Amino acid sequence: MECIFCRIVEREIPAAMLYEDEQAIAFADIAPAAPTHFLVVPRQHLASLSETGRGDAFLLGHLLAVAAELAAQRGLAQGFRIVINTGADGGQTVGHLHVHVLGGRPMHWPPG
Ligand code: AMP
Repeated sequence: MECIFCRIVEREIPAAMLYEDEQAIAFADIAPAAPTHFLVVPRQHLASLSETGRGDAFLLGHLLAVAAELAAQRGLAQGFRIVINTGADGGQTVGHLHVHVLGGRPMHWPPG
């Protein structure tokens, strides 16, 4: 299996797992860009947000709901940032859809 996040889903490689259910998992980002930085990832391999359509609306909503729930559980009451890098210009480096959740420090705008 080529996809690193599919391998994490299948527990073939380790990750600091924070959450899992039938549709999604969440784990700590290996190179955190903020004091709290984790990823919410669908079990299903979708290469990017561009690969999704309206038929994926429930899954996409679920990923965001899980992200918000975990942000609350992990003490990000001051706020947090959701990022879905998409495609080359979007800065996506792993070709499996994932939602970044960053928090624990003030964020800047616009992002780089
Ligand atoms: P993106 O650039 O949006 O595709 O984000 C990919 C993210 O995955 C980066 O923040 C990486 O640090 C993170 N990442 C890559 N490999 C792993 C891994 N094995 N475990 C946890 N996070 C990873």
